[in-house]
Amino acid sequence: MEVRIAAANSSMALHLYNTLSGKIEEFHPLRDNQVRMYACGPTVYDYGHIGNFRTFIAVDLLYRFLRQSGFDVRYVMNITDVDDKIIRNAARDGVTVQQYTAKYEQAFLEDSATLNIERPSLVRATEYIREMAEFIAKLVEKGIAYRTEDGSYYFRIAKFPGYGKLSKKDFAGMEDGARVDVDEYDKDNARGFALWKAPKPGEASWETPIGPGRPGWHIECSVMSMKQLGSSFDLHAGGEDLIFPHHENEIAQSEALTGEPFARYWFHTRFLLVEGEKMSKSLGNFYTIRDLVLKGHKPSSIRWLLTSVPYRNQLNFTFDGLKSAASSVEKLRNFRFRLTGAQFPAGANPAMAQLASETAERMKAALEDDLNTAQAQAAIFDMVRKANAALDAGEVRSEDVRPLLSALEKFDEIFGVLKDDDQPKMAAILDWARAVGREKEASPELIEIAGSAQLSDDQVNQKLTEMEAARKARNFKVSDSLRAELSAAGIIVENTKDGVRWRRK
Ligand code: AMP
Ligand code: ZN
Repeated sequence: MEVRIAAANSSMALHLYNTLSGKIEEFHPLRDNQVRMYACGPTVYDYGHIGNFRTFIAVDLLYRFLRQSGFDVRYVMNITDVDDKIIRNAARDGVTVQQYTAKYEQAFLEDSATLNIERPSLVRATEYIREMAEFIAKLVEKGIAYRTEDGSYYFRIAKFPGYGKLSKKDFAGMEDGARVDVDEYDKDNARGFALWKAPKPGEASWETPIGPGRPGWHIECSVMSMKQLGSSFDLHAGGEDLIFPHHENEIAQSEALTGEPFARYWFHTRFLLVEGEKMSKSLGNFYTIRDLVLKGHKPSSIRWLLTSVPYRNQLNFTFDGLKSAASSVEKLRNFRFRLTGAQFPAGANPAMAQLASETAERMKAALEDDLNTAQAQAAIFDMVRKANAALDAGEVRSEDVRPLLSALEKFDEIFGVLKDDDQPKMAAILDWARAVGREKEASPELIEIAGSAQLSDDQVNQKLTEMEAARKARNFKVSDSLRAELSAAGIIVENTKDGVRWRRK
């Protein structure tokens, strides 16, 4: 017995893969139980795609699980509202940078809400330009950065011996001073990277104490994360493409300035593939959240699919996968309805409380194991399968409902798919499509769901209760008309031996 308890306790801690150490490590924040985490957010020059949202949802899951585990979490995400592409596009369209990005920032917030992503503290790069200039001035003072004739500033990689420690690239023997002019550069030529870029004619720039210009992308995140979270904080997240050069450069700038370790745990998500290929506009497999909803897919199915593969494994996004995601979500919602929509005999079946508590433990263990979402989902489905069998056999008692539901709620605190709000979200996207002239793309499925099913779960349950009461009172006129009303709202009602069940078309 003692041995079992000891074993259970030792595994009761979150373990995460840390790109910096290259190992799975037990996660402990620097200060008590306060977690300070930062994620690289979107560059708001276009609508976000499902790859971006794979990463944002993975970090959302981490955030939710940290809180469920009792941590007090401060989660900051930046909005990159200035970069070369944004400045170029704004100049091309003859608008200010702010005017150009406002629309895409709004779209990002809406898409995040569509996918039930909890809102981090958001910071915009353009609101930290002065701090960025000050940061660069200090690096110049220390001899780590230098100014070029045109008024740009570069970081001297050779002055930071730890360069390469995150991406495990070897930069030994590089020459000081050589440089390239872009954020994306080839590693054989990597001697320095841009901190600040001199203004280009006709393009936006900022007046600062280090001269006019615009910040490089990497400096944005160093400055915003340290301003918000302090010079050493717990966790930094982003997609795997950011390991090099973006995060490597963030570490170099920050640690060269402060002499302290920057972020302690580095959390990177694996890139998503679509139908087995890298997503790209030219292959025609590039999807935004809105594209998928226009095709009639529910936000909850998209969220489910994006969480179903652990964040470090390859996720291959397919339309078949999206269909089976929809049926997984429906199974869980139906199970919940079976539990809440029926009357059970008094008493308790101890096997059910046991099943619920084992499930909660399995989910926790799975998520503590480097956020193994697939195992956590498998645990809840095992519970649903066993509990459904017990329901079929009439072995569920009234006191079993609460523990089973609470395991389901615990699951949904992390996965966030049970709230039945797909319909209003889809209706909003249909409205948007009409406003921007994309209504032709709206599939019949979307039009049907968005247009017809206007009843919430609660309203459906209420109508079903009324329908049952009318039927028992042999008032068939009323019960038939309620059934017709539900059917018109896209609700399918099924009579089973333990009561009435429903689902959406
Ligand atoms: P961006 O808007 O391009 O700055 O990217 C925002 C976030 O999405 C970053 O963390 C990227 O690493 C991540 N990201 C971009 N493409 C993908 C993809 N195909 N799969 C997963 N994450 C991605
Ligand atoms: Zn960043």
